[in-house]
Amino acid sequence: MAPDATMNPMALARRAEEWTDASIERAKEVFPPESPIACAKGCAHCCRLRVLVTRAEAMVVADAVRASPSAPALIARIRAAARVETSARIECPMLVDETCAVHDARPIACRAMNSLDASMCAAAARTTGAHIPLYVPQLRVGETARERLAKELGAAGEDGALVDLAAALHAIFEP
Ligand code: SF4
Repeated sequence: MAPDATMNPMALARRAEEWTDASIERAKEVFPPESPIACAKGCAHCCRLRVLVTRAEAMVVADAVRASPSAPALIARIRAAARVETSARIECPMLVDETCAVHDARPIACRAMNSLDASMCAAAARTTGAHIPLYVPQLRVGETARERLAKELGAAGEDGALVDLAAALHAIFEP
């Protein structure tokens, strides 16, 4: 990803997300997972963990919320989620009927998260100490994408620090 001073934060985030998806596909070709990746629509255990994003990624999500036919309901969820006590285990306000309402605009962390065994994700949601087998190259792509995005945002004079997605969305849609 070559630096481009003309790109705004959302454009940089969108490009980083596209790069993440393409790099994950390449990684799967070069280093095939030892078993199929278990993640699928309707499986949302990892959407109940704190999601860390750059503000630029949160702005991309907010843009998708505004464009959604369900915008009023999604904004209400964002405002309600901010009232939930802060904890490591918090349902993402974009999770509706166990499905991501902004799938195409989801942050890098969501694109990189994965599991080779959904039953272990379910176990981890119930108890501590469950070992979730991961496809590590996908996680590494996400880490690289976030590092690069943070640098690009910094070079553009923007904040590349990671923030909580729910809190960042609430700040954007504050009443
Ligand atoms: S943005 Fe979508 S994929 Fe990411 S945690 Fe929220 S509901 Fe899940």
